[in-house]
Amino acid sequence: MSFSSLGLSAPLLHAIKDQGYTAPYPIQQEAIPAVLKGRDILGIAQTGSGKTASFALPILEMFQKKAAGRNRYVRALVLVPTRELAVQIEEVFKNFGKELARHVKSLAVYGGVSINPQMMKLSGTDVLVATPGRLLDLIESKAVQLSEVEVLVLDEADKILNLGFQEEVNKILALLPNRRQNLLFSATLSGDVDNLIAELLTDPLKITI
Ligand code: AMP
Repeated sequence: MSFSSLGLSAPLLHAIKDQGYTAPYPIQQEAIPAVLKGRDILGIAQTGSGKTASFALPILEMFQKKAAGRNRYVRALVLVPTRELAVQIEEVFKNFGKELARHVKSLAVYGGVSINPQMMKLSGTDVLVATPGRLLDLIESKAVQLSEVEVLVLDEADKILNLGFQEEVNKILALLPNRRQNLLFSATLSGDVDNLIAELLTDPLKITI
């Protein structure tokens, strides 16, 4: 199995090679073609499985083909539990997105630091990687609009809930359009994650690593 059989175009294949990836990990083999077809995904996978590239690569592929979204209207929202994960995931988008013909702008926003610099950088963001509390603050400040989100990713969903972000997540979900693609990744399937899965995902491809 090679990356070139998964439906990704030349600039991404080149960036993948630059990163030193020679062959796709199992989660990437399954998730990338399915995401490109527009399917919802349930990924039961730990950190280290390669889950980040399994959603970042197909999102970049889909977005580089379409015209840019409107200012302040993000097109992919990646919700994560922690600042560290937000930074790490945004770097993956940036590294893979370097050579795309149409630039896909990504940004990480998280709490614990001043909100103003994040607000100033938000303009034109296509892929927003965010922790729930800071995202709500930015929405309240009218710096972000979620009504045109095409793809929602919930990464480490179990950790998001364990950290007590259920209410924030509910508020954020209520702001998303009904028609969208949903990708949910979790290391475990607790009762709370099950509820979220039932609420969010439509006929998902289930991948267990
Ligand atoms: P993740 O589970 O997404 O945090 O990825 C874990 C680590 O595996 C990261 O350091 C990635 O850069 C690396 N990685 C992901 N996919 C591949 C691949 N197909 N080949 C080599 N390394 C990879």
